[in-house]
Amino acid sequence: MLPINVLGLNENPISLDGDFSPRELDLQDADLEVVGPVHLKLAIQRLGDKVHIRGSVTSEIRLACSRCLADFNFSLVTTLDLVALPVGGEARPSQRVEENAEEEDASVMAYEHDQVNLVPEVRTAIILGVPMKPLCAEDCPGLCLECGERLDASHRPHTDAAPEGPFSRLKKFLDQ
Ligand SMILES: [Zn+2]
Ligand SMILES: [Zn+2]
Repeated sequence: MLPINVLGLNENPISLDGDFSPRELDLQDADLEVVGPVHLKLAIQRLGDKVHIRGSVTSEIRLACSRCLADFNFSLVTTLDLVALPVGGEARPSQRVEENAEEEDASVMAYEHDQVNLVPEVRTAIILGVPMKPLCAEDCPGLCLECGERLDASHRPHTDAAPEGPFSRLKKFLDQ
């Protein structure tokens, strides 16, 4: 299904709905731990030389919480909104896209030899969809400055003030 052959497309949108391995999407070198397949659900439509691709990219990424350092599965859902234009078309892509207000949010990409290669676009969408400071939960309590344990319900308050341990220094470092 990837790349998409333009010749089989017309103004009636076709749907691409399927799972792709991280390897198929060139994600094995992206420094991301993708858990399981990446799901693409796209509508693809061709109007003249233009190919419109819209839909969602869903995947699970293993991340470390920026607050408590625990690993967790992040459910990444991002959207694709692309207009693909053939290489060497007579009009400049930016002009063509500006013609139509409906397309103003779409990213423009090029295709050649009647093949639209979505792999780089999907790969970039996933990489950009990963949060810079991931949290295992919105209200992640973080780590105890004294013992370094997660400050969840099982953590008991310390009665005596303990001297600064290595974890408090680590916590300060991570909070900077
Ligand atoms: Zn956390
Ligand atoms: Zn503690």
